Amino acid sequence: MTFATLGLIEPLLRSLETLGYQTPTPVQAQAIPAVLAGRDLMAAAQTGTGKTAGFALPLLQLLAMEGPKVTANSVRALILVPTRELAEQVHEAVRQYAENLPLRTYAVYGGVSINPQMMKLRSGVDLLVATPGRLLDLFRQNALKFNQLQTLVLDEADRMLDLGFSEELANIYRALPKKRQTLLFSATFSDDIRLLAGQMLNDPLTVEVSPRNVAANTVKQWIVTVDKKRKPELFVHLMRKGKWKQVLVFAKTRNGVDALVEKLQGLGINADGIHGDKPQATRQRALDRFKASEVQILVATDVAARGLDIEDLPLVVNFDLPIVAEDYIHRIGRTGRAGSTGEAISLVCADEVNLLSAIEMLTRQTLKRQSEPDFEPEHRVPDTDASGQVVKKPKKPKKPKASGGGGGKRNLGKWVDSGEAAPVEPSIKPVRKVPVFNTGPRKRKP
Ligand code: AMP
Repeated sequence: MTFATLGLIEPLLRSLETLGYQTPTPVQAQAIPAVLAGRDLMAAAQTGTGKTAGFALPLLQLLAMEGPKVTANSVRALILVPTRELAEQVHEAVRQYAENLPLRTYAVYGGVSINPQMMKLRSGVDLLVATPGRLLDLFRQNALKFNQLQTLVLDEADRMLDLGFSEELANIYRALPKKRQTLLFSATFSDDIRLLAGQMLNDPLTVEVSPRNVAANTVKQWIVTVDKKRKPELFVHLMRKGKWKQVLVFAKTRNGVDALVEKLQGLGINADGIHGDKPQATRQRALDRFKASEVQILVATDVAARGLDIEDLPLVVNFDLPIVAEDYIHRIGRTGRAGSTGEAISLVCADEVNLLSAIEMLTRQTLKRQSEPDFEPEHRVPDTDASGQVVKKPKKPKKPKASGGGGGKRNLGKWVDSGEAAPVEPSIKPVRKVPVFNTGPRKRKP
């Protein structure tokens, strides 16, 4: 199968050739013809599956081929995303795909001045990428009109709800024309997402792609057990021993990010951090420098790093395990992308045993354990397995093995269908139509 056989027009095919995309990914193969045919879509796919091109390519084609010229302050297609970084990333992808089309595209998000955004919107844009809060601000200040809107994309819908955007989404929904095409992408399909889909979608086609990043053969995963207070020391030890070049590190809290970055910088290690308390410009700079390999270690909270596409990232380290097991999948999905292999190492202390157990249950695998000589925990991490069983009574500690875990051979550049493991997400149930839009805000604030 090729992109041409999916019905894409020549200017888009030329952009794809420049980008080196040869074969459509499974989500692209399903989504592109459906979106071109005007269908609503409910897709279980996350970052790493090629979903951005899956919705952006047909969307750009429809914008180029159909509909009136965009008028002042109007927008014809809207892509809603949960974070500023994702807005930049999605817009950058859109910009590349639209290279040969006469379309205006733009991205708006909070944390930066609103005035330049208002100026830019004056002449109207064909495709706008936006975070929900800033979009509403612009709408309320009459900088935006939705009368020409033909397509709405909700990207990472589950994360938008996790971040408490349900009220903003409801307000945006009320302001949009009823007749439109809607595409919803979500890594998981909770009841809240189904509720949202029931409200927003009209007879959607469901597309499901198992998250390729949990395929055991693309990401090598293992844990090192350690006492909580010795995690920073162990991290530095592993880093030096493994001669780690570029690592994305996840910590649970903003303070945790700052403390680790400070420690690493104090040791002369080239590290930087991103989390929700930092100004947007600082976050973007840290990310850009990391992508350009000018920063060796980037420490992040889940929210700041969600959905980021960083090419060729060989290693992800979970300095802390995530509170929500699904985030483990998103985290390790930052490596082993687009056909390459990667490695994900988690530093796990006794307090985190239940989190570990939840991850093993979700991913249906027992993570391989290592204990690093000289770092064996005093507080032993009880045994766990994929059945969710935590063996409360610790066994006698075994003699520690030397750590291994070298990097796998990398296969870069072209999309490889990797012979996926069984899907870990629940399969999609039929969309429930409900009269009221009331998915309440959530409590998570990493
Ligand atoms: P996404 O899931 O949209 O974040 O995409 C993940 C990565 O895969 C991005 O770096 C894309 O540029 C890349 N990608 C998407 N589709 C293809 C394709 N058909 N062939 C090669 N790379 C692709």
